[in-house]
Amino acid sequence: MSMLELRQVSRSYGQGDAEVHALREVSLTADEGEMVAVMGPSGSGKSTLLTIAGTLEAPTSGEVLIAGQPVSRASRNTKARLRRRVIGYVFQDFNLLPGLTAAENVSLPLELDGVSARKARVPGLRGLERLGLRERAAHYPDQLSGGERQRVAIARAMVGERRLLLADEPSGALDSTNAQAVMRLLLDACKVGGMTAVVVTHDAQLASWADRVVFLRDGQVTDQTAAAPGPESLFTQERHQ
Ligand code: ADP
Ligand code: MG
Repeated sequence: MSMLELRQVSRSYGQGDAEVHALREVSLTADEGEMVAVMGPSGSGKSTLLTIAGTLEAPTSGEVLIAGQPVSRASRNTKARLRRRVIGYVFQDFNLLPGLTAAENVSLPLELDGVSARKARVPGLRGLERLGLRERAAHYPDQLSGGERQRVAIARAMVGERRLLLADEPSGALDSTNAQAVMRLLLDACKVGGMTAVVVTHDAQLASWADRVVFLRDGQVTDQTAAAPGPESLFTQERHQ
């Protein structure tokens, strides 16, 4: 089943001479369990694509479907619920709350969804542990390195078994070892947990972890590598040994 589908999505900003076509009729699908990487030069529309896929922004034209449901027809409440329960988003600048500890930042989406702080703490800590940050649980963002903050943001985006993870340069602040570890973790969540991930990256080596790479230039998809052979492919991991 396709978890995410973009149908001829266009998005422009500004008007007249100042009009910028950030996306031009982009069509893209990501199936359940699939990891798709998006590459392209700066300004090619990668972040715009992700914010539209995440229902944070609306397309100028075209349609976005999440788990087969057209988002444009969904109510504000439905979209808000999708963002709380289904879609996990890793922002380029992390967006951690400075007044909350790492553990509180990670469990926040669950609390916003009505889970008590006490109950949300367990999955929050488990999320930190998955990213190797268990001993940083009580630290505030300004007590963490850039790479640690980035991993907290990833843990927060994944908490609550979110089905669709959208990540904008999730490895930008990470050294190569940690960046590879994050890609492996995301791939595992897709292959074992059935999550779908769309990951923007500049790094071709990191993109090679994905089942498929989509290339953007000037707001258009210029190329895509072949579709994945499917979740049963056991060779995905071995490419990197
Ligand atoms: P990328 O993430 O690939 O660097 P973006 O999606 O951020 O690219 O931007 C694509 C184009 O759209 C750029 O020309 C950018 O300047 C423009 N753009 C993005 N967001 C806005 C906005 N809110 N207002 C005006 N122009 C924007
Ligand atoms: Mg960007």
